[in-house]
Order: sequence, then structure tokens, then C-alpha cells
Amino acid sequence: MTTTHDPADASTHRAALVAHALSLSPSGLSQGTSGNLSVRWREAGCEGMLITPSGVDYRRLQPGDIVFVQLHDGAWQGPLKPSSEWRFHRDIYLARPEVGAVVHAHPTHTTALAVQRRGIPAFHYMVAVAGGRDIRCAPYATYGTETLSRHALAALADRRACLLANHGMIAVGADLGSAFALAIEVEQLAHQYLLALGTGGPVLLPDDEMDRVLDAFRSYGANAQSAAAQEPA
Ligand code: 13P
Ligand code: ZN
Repeated sequence: MTTTHDPADASTHRAALVAHALSLSPSGLSQGTSGNLSVRWREAGCEGMLITPSGVDYRRLQPGDIVFVQLHDGAWQGPLKPSSEWRFHRDIYLARPEVGAVVHAHPTHTTALAVQRRGIPAFHYMVAVAGGRDIRCAPYATYGTETLSRHALAALADRRACLLANHGMIAVGADLGSAFALAIEVEQLAHQYLLALGTGGPVLLPDDEMDRVLDAFRSYGANAQSAAAQEPA
């Protein structure tokens, strides 16, 4: 989690938010101005987040357009208004200290499930990538509202991703790269699940098998971590 005051790091985060926002469309996560991204950030001793502005076409987005929003009162600084979904981004950072980044998107297959108010059950072991036996769908509420934020937080309990009824999805992570990668993973799972639903229906894995997978995932990726630790500084 990033909590440094170094202004060079703030510009690195702003540039990363712009680069990931530009990748939303080619990654199949969102089109136009749909979706929004943030990272946890502390500025001048104030806990907050850096978030994409509301309604700006990502192809025109500049690092200076990214908005700093304080966590405790939602006050913001910047030439542009923050994303209309700043509330759920803010409430996630307040409730989940391990979260360093939030990605919200409207990917086609995930949204096709969300409009049926369906989550993603244990049709594939990779569903555990979001942290639990299933990926829930939060009940519908108008975009940008506190009610939507409340529903999203409940659906994210013990999870790193959820669907939003008649809207899209949220993925969270320790950093922007992992939250973005999880969003892509959820969209792929949603695609596979939709195909399976349309061709006879999947066989679901039982709870005890998903618990074994969740347990195995706790040490999965250890090779990549020890390889990174061995890289010269
Ligand atoms: P913003 O442009 O305000 O971030 O809104 C996009 C969106 O996806 C709302 O849910
Ligand atoms: Zn949205």
C-alpha cells in the first residue's frame, strides 16, 4: 500500500491511472467514459485516493486531470470533478485497509450476468481468484449513490470482486496492476459461465473442493515472488 509523500510517486500513480484507463477499452473492460479507477494515496498528511475524473473520454485523459479525494469527508482537489462513483471507492478504502486500488468497469459478459442479477458460482475453480467460493452480485441501486456503495461493500465481504446488478463490476487489489488483472479474470470467467449456461449448464464444484482451492491459492505464485526477490536491485 502506498502512503509516501514523495511528489514524484504521486505523478507515477497519476501516469499509471491514465495508462490503465486507456487500457480499459482494448482489454474489453469498458467503452467510452464508462468505468473508473483509483489508488489509495496520502497527500499533505491526509488519507485519500487518486481517482479518474467524471465523464472524461479516456483518450483525452491527462495525469493532471486525476483528482485527489480525502477519505474522511470526500472533499476533493483538482480542476475536474471526481468520478461519480467516488463514494464506493472511498468506502472500500475506509473499510478494507489491505486494498490499495479499485477498478470499476462495465465489461460485456460480466454485465450480461449482472443484468440477470446473477453472480458467478463455483462453475470453475478459478472463481476462487476473487477470494471466495463464488463472486456475488450486489443488488441494484442508482449509480453514484450511497446505497450502491453499501450494496457493493456487502457483496465484497471476504472477496476482491463483485458484480453490480444492471450495471457492471468492481475489482480491488493491493495495487492497480492486480486489481486490473482481476477485473480481466472476472470478465473471462463471466464469458465462460455464460457459454456454459447456454450449452446445457455447468456442473458446480462443491464447497469442500472450493475450500481446497482457496487453501492452495494461499501459496500459489510463490515461484514468481521468490524470483522477484532474487532479482538484482
Ligand atoms: P464516471 O465517468 O463519473 O466515473 O462514471 C462512469 C461510471 O461507470 C458510473 O458508474
Ligand atoms: Zn459504472
